[in-house]
Amino acid sequence: CFITLEGIDGAGKTSHLPAIAALLAEHGIDALLTREPGGTPLGERLRALLLDPATQATLDTETLLMFAARCEHVQTVIRPALASGRWVVSDRFTDATFAFQGGGRGVDSARIATLEDWVQQGLQPDLTLLFDAPTEVAHARMAGERQLDRFEQEAAAFHQRVRAAYLARAAADPTRIVLIRADQPLAQVRADALAAVAALLAA
Ligand code: C5P
Ligand code: MG
Repeated sequence: CFITLEGIDGAGKTSHLPAIAALLAEHGIDALLTREPGGTPLGERLRALLLDPATQATLDTETLLMFAARCEHVQTVIRPALASGRWVVSDRFTDATFAFQGGGRGVDSARIATLEDWVQQGLQPDLTLLFDAPTEVAHARMAGERQLDRFEQEAAAFHQRVRAAYLARAAADPTRIVLIRADQPLAQVRADALAAVAALLAA
């Protein structure tokens, strides 16, 4: 199975990755944990470029670089792992491109869907956990934590568009995308995330 974690910056998705891996391990599943952009040597180099506040790229170039990193990730890591029977858990995947480059920056979602077909050839997550919180809550969590990256530095309106795009995708595909209310106490967020993964294990 292929699980992805999504959400606006500061929603806390990454902090729940170890608990998800631990739950899978309890069920005898040694999952491959990975992330986007990244997950391969080339992908991590592209990630550094994409997140560097000094990088200048047009919207289309940014989108293509995201998919270049994803292509390498899908072809050399995700597909081989799934083919060998392993589970894969990725911190972000293509929903992030629809949300950030599509909703946030205004790239036409039909064009993103074209690249999605091209790169994924039908590969889709079995389950996506969307960690959702009001942008003010997410922003407060990030404040002072560390140096903000090229996307995190964007204005509040950008993050609101990203959030809205994520929520629209969840509404359009509620079977795959499970909404996790990330503005609850941490233990409850974790419990909700683990319940969604447990439901997949039971399916
Ligand atoms: O998951 P994480 O927050 O570490 O992701 C790195 C950054 O890349 C995020 O700030 C996110 O805003 C950005 N990103 C993006 N488009 C994607 C994937 C990630 O803008 N398709
Ligand atoms: Mg981030």
